[in-house]
Amino acid sequence: MKFNKYNISPEIKRSLEESGFHKPTDIQYKSLPQILSGQDILAIAQTGTGKTAAFAIPLISKIQSLKPRLEEQVVKAVVMVPTRELAIQIEQVFRDIGKYTSVVPVAVIGGVEIEPQLKKLKKADIVIATPGRIMDLVYKGDLSLKKMEFLVLDEADRMLEKGFYNDIEKLITLLPRRRQTMFFSATINETIKDLAYALVNKPVRIQL
Ligand code: AMP
Repeated sequence: MKFNKYNISPEIKRSLEESGFHKPTDIQYKSLPQILSGQDILAIAQTGTGKTAAFAIPLISKIQSLKPRLEEQVVKAVVMVPTRELAIQIEQVFRDIGKYTSVVPVAVIGGVEIEPQLKKLKKADIVIATPGRIMDLVYKGDLSLKKMEFLVLDEADRMLEKGFYNDIEKLITLLPRRRQTMFFSATINETIKDLAYALVNKPVRIQL
């Protein structure tokens, strides 16, 4: 199985080829068709499996095709992560895979000047940040989630370890109900399951 077989744009195929991604990893093989077809997914996958590209490829593809039809610049996807380091890494993966598209990913992080980030945010299609940072942006009126269609939770178990449960719970109430949710965690327990099922809708479960 090669990336050629998937319904993704030539621009994405080109960047994958250039990055040396010749065929999908196991998690990509299992989740790509499901995400492309609009399914919610609940995936148990560790770092190092290629899980970032497993959601980045289909998200860029979907946003690339809906972007020309949008009347205004709005954030279409939110990726929640446990740490600023992961936010920066994921932004880079989106940049690499989307480099021949016009899809704009922006990581918003603490500890650096906020003004330049807010400026970038105005052009963002995809926002990557911790739940705490996202809450902050929404409450200050710097980010609207009203038109978002895609939600990714990456490393959900680590987000809970970091005490983001309450922020995520509050955010859930602000998200549009009609959306596609991709939930990734390296481990699973009752709390994580409860959180997952509060977010996803008839998910396809993916385990490696
Ligand atoms: P991740 O699990 O997302 O942290 O990815 C682990 C590593 O796998 C990263 O260095 C990626 O660049 C690499 N990777 C992801 N997908 C592929 C692929 N299809 N072929 C080769 N390497 C990949």
